[in-house]
Amino acid sequence: MKKITETADMQHLALKWKKKGCSTGFVPTMGALHEGHLSLIRTARKHHDYVVVSIFVNPLQFGPGEDYDSYPADLKGDVEKAEQAGADIVYAPSVKEMYPDTPALKMYVTEGMDVLCGRHRPGHFDGVVTVVMKLFQITQPDRAYFGQKDAQQAALIKKMAADFNLPVDIAVCRTIRERDGLAISSRNQNLTREERLHAPRLYESLQQAHALFLKGETDPAVLEAALHDYLQDAAGAAVEYAEVLSYPSLKGSLQDTKNVIFAAAVRFSRARLIDNLIVSADGKENGYV
Ligand code: AMP
Repeated sequence: MKKITETADMQHLALKWKKKGCSTGFVPTMGALHEGHLSLIRTARKHHDYVVVSIFVNPLQFGPGEDYDSYPADLKGDVEKAEQAGADIVYAPSVKEMYPDTPALKMYVTEGMDVLCGRHRPGHFDGVVTVVMKLFQITQPDRAYFGQKDAQQAALIKKMAADFNLPVDIAVCRTIRERDGLAISSRNQNLTREERLHAPRLYESLQQAHALFLKGETDPAVLEAALHDYLQDAAGAAVEYAEVLSYPSLKGSLQDTKNVIFAAAVRFSRARLIDNLIVSADGKENGYV
């Protein structure tokens, strides 16, 4: 396992592998690696000759007042964990290495920004697509692995790959959870003990809204109101959003959709948590998309 910090070195190696006809799996992360990230790395390991994990806390995707400066970091521990999970390369560039010049071109997302995190984190997904596009050029993957936990991001990256004819497969893998149901997240370490006890209610509320759907309630407004109420009663946190939409199109109507997403974001004192549950239109849980 090798750690690379220079972009030119990473791209050179990736192009060399490609020339040899080898296949590369890529797992982009912001570090502070946990079981969610490691499951993506282990999955990639099964399918490719080489596995690259990037660790880069991307300033472009953080808004003013968000947690860029306090985002958890543990590069040494991350490199060890990535190696154990089967990575060949950890690519960990500095901000200066990733963004050496003021860009003359910008990417911005034109659809789906009126829902979920798009609505509540203006500019966030512009930053995400910009860095992922750059990372794809640098690491030249055959397939890139993303978690369903960030479902809006996964849908958007798939759309980006289609819209720009990128020669990369996008795999979306199931959300890894703690035993009590809480989706594993780097930000969970910012919960107080009291908040950690309440946090599993986020997923429980999504499950309760899903149960209502299974009973035959298909009006998204009714489902959203119920989800909001479950969260407010249970989570001990401020509800940022509670939405029920078609997936991956993220529209408000559930008519003719293949999948339905129940998604929520809550704010604890020092942590904003998101989670979702995606089911097929008949209500059966997919686990992944
Ligand atoms: P992050 O470091 O938070 O940017 O996440 C990097 C990748 O790991 C993204 O594709 C996330 O969706 C994915 N991920 C984060 N948490 C989990 C989890 N609990 N289960 C599965 N994938 C996850």
